[in-house]
Amino acid sequence: MVKDCLACDLAAGRLPLPGGIIHETSYWLVEHSVGSLGVGTLIVKPRRHVTRVAQLEQAEAEELGPLLQQTAAVVDDLAADCSDARLRAAVRATRDPDRAAGGRAPRPADA
Ligand SMILES: [Zn+2]
Repeated sequence: MVKDCLACDLAAGRLPLPGGIIHETSYWLVEHSVGSLGVGTLIVKPRRHVTRVAQLEQAEAEELGPLLQQTAAVVDDLAADCSDARLRAAVRATRDPDRAAGGRAPRPADA
């Protein structure tokens, strides 16, 4: 866990995490978003500080697909009558040297 990384700080309890950790596996955590997407948007993030999908270990990558499917199924069940429920997976490149070097995700105050 890297200090001053939003994802790590939330996972380590250094910042308040609305609803706590919803689900966890060997390599992944599922939480509510604390950013602009807000509570109700679930984030699937690695337990360890990883900033690039290409850096995932094989076991982490193998666990990700089924976890995304299970998480989406839970959201579908909870939001069965909500027409705005969607599944999104985002992989984003950045030229921000702070994020590239330290992998610090944006904090709510950055938005
Ligand atoms: Zn981190």
